[in-house]
Amino acid sequence: IKIKVTELPIPVAFASAFEGEIIRRGDMQVEFSSHKAPTCELVQTCNADDIEDHKITIIGKDLDELEQGQTFALATYVQVAGAKMQPDFEPVIERKIHAWYNYMEGVMHTGQRNQIRVRVSKAAYEAGLRLTHFAEVLYNMIMDEFDIVVDKCQVTIVTDTDKVQELLDTVAMPTYEKRDERLETLTDESVDQFYTCTLCQSFAPSHCCVVTPERLGLCGAVSWLDAKATKELNPTGPCQPISKEGCEDEVKGIYPDVNRMVAEATQGALEKVTLYSIMEDPMTSCGCFECICGIEPFSNGVIIANREYAGMTPLGMTFGELASMTGGGVQTPGFMGHGRHFIASKKFMSAEGGFERIVWMPKELKDDVAERLNKSAKEKYGIDNFTDMIADETVATDEESLMAFLQEKNHPVLGLDPIM
Ligand code: SF4
Ligand code: ZN
Repeated sequence: IKIKVTELPIPVAFASAFEGEIIRRGDMQVEFSSHKAPTCELVQTCNADDIEDHKITIIGKDLDELEQGQTFALATYVQVAGAKMQPDFEPVIERKIHAWYNYMEGVMHTGQRNQIRVRVSKAAYEAGLRLTHFAEVLYNMIMDEFDIVVDKCQVTIVTDTDKVQELLDTVAMPTYEKRDERLETLTDESVDQFYTCTLCQSFAPSHCCVVTPERLGLCGAVSWLDAKATKELNPTGPCQPISKEGCEDEVKGIYPDVNRMVAEATQGALEKVTLYSIMEDPMTSCGCFECICGIEPFSNGVIIANREYAGMTPLGMTFGELASMTGGGVQTPGFMGHGRHFIASKKFMSAEGGFERIVWMPKELKDDVAERLNKSAKEKYGIDNFTDMIADETVATDEESLMAFLQEKNHPVLGLDPIM
């Protein structure tokens, strides 16, 4: 991912290097936080006639009028217009606010939407940093990175508590809700194109992700909407559309154009990819996988380990050891890298019977996906509280204790056909 050196009209430095900067309470001039006051961040598509390019408005007190050391309300409201702008691109631009605010030296930002926290350091304040500069950063960065879809952009920053609350209730929340509904209905069936992603070819030259609404990039950072926006912003770039026409097998996920596009993107290194199988032509992995799924031969199931998990898995391998077998852009039947989000999809390993095969996950991962996975398990298999049947490191890190746990819970995998 390229970081352009941008000359911005602000009194502090601006660089990706400041992203990890921590500002302690004692060093902060002020804080804006959803824990104590209303907050929101929103990018919204408007008619070109309704907005004025580069108009910056601050509603409420600016940094020099807010009491030092206190916590306040904050809304960042960006309105954009453009012939090629689509509401689908709003969250893609909006998510960048987090990075761009953080790139300012002396500014710390966490969260998104209506759950955020922003801290401004005393040093940045003394250097002259004000909210107008926050708006300038957004305007300039949006016009720099999204100029293909954005023709006009205006930025409003609000610190007046009542005005933030009003914007939150009348504009931001209804927009978030509408987007969530759209994401819910965004399934692999509901779209007519998938996308390639070849960003990781810089270090895994024969790797190509196939990004679908349900199977986002294995790094977890490239959703189908991101891939769609990338194609629009950079027409000859890493994300190219794949037609779903002529599907040969819906359960396994075999599409002629997936094979054609993957072969093209990898210069023939890879000729076939089956989207929903871990055994038959599984998708390759570069190395950025959030999770690795591997077959557990005793139970006929699979285990999933996430990158953050440092312990042992019942396969006798750690995440790092699994990663060394799975990465590098080659197909390794029996192992696959994937994002967290894919786990609760009804397409997950559907060629081998689906997520009913999951027998083990680290507890943190299991808790993270539980709500969605349990809902899918109820819908697909009629199973209640499926994650209670899945073992974790607190009950099993070897195959004997794993099998004992599965038998005690009567895990459905015990009634399935052999996976190999
Ligand atoms: Fe793209 Fe896949 Fe790399 Fe993510 S892991 S950046 S989706 S190629
Ligand atoms: Zn990668």
